[in-house]
Amino acid sequence: QGKTYQFKLVLLGESAVGKSSLVMRFVKDHFDEYRESTIGAAFLAQTISLDDNTTSLAPMYYRNANCAVVVYDITQTSSLDKAKAWVNELQRQADPNIVIALAGNKCDLEARRAVETKTAQEYADEAGLLFFETSAKTADNVSQLFNAIAKRMPLD
Ligand code: GDP
Repeated sequence: QGKTYQFKLVLLGESAVGKSSLVMRFVKDHFDEYRESTIGAAFLAQTISLDDNTTSLAPMYYRNANCAVVVYDITQTSSLDKAKAWVNELQRQADPNIVIALAGNKCDLEARRAVETKTAQEYADEAGLLFFETSAKTADNVSQLFNAIAKRMPLD
């Protein structure tokens, strides 16, 4: 007989890196190029996804989180810096058993790549993070990302 487990997941990262698009892709297998920000806001609230604008509220959201996806945009170097800052904060303040994944999103935009895969992979290895380059647009690696996190969750 199957048993259902529930875990709390938070998404963190700079604005517009694709947090809500990743969730939308995973949950609904849908991508919306022209997603309206109001819809986004509602969706963000539901999925407990956070960006810069809600930084001061962050501890409230990642409190008791079992897992976190920290997202950057492979075309924006600054978004990786912001992601690293989130990882530091989680590693200092969140549950010590939290499973953290780093997602380099928008990997469909290879021509505009600014962050090399190797750079991010080395950082992820050092920091002990799962790492995937994803595209919410093409669905590349999105289910792999969430499934890898799920596999790390304790079942007891
Ligand atoms: P959030 O603010 O981090 O939740 O970012 P959104 O999910 O709202 O996405 C910001 C913008 O990037 C939107 O215009 C999305 O359509 C676009 N976007 C999100 N993911 C991808 C992706 O994987 N590839 C491309 N090309 N665009 C994406």
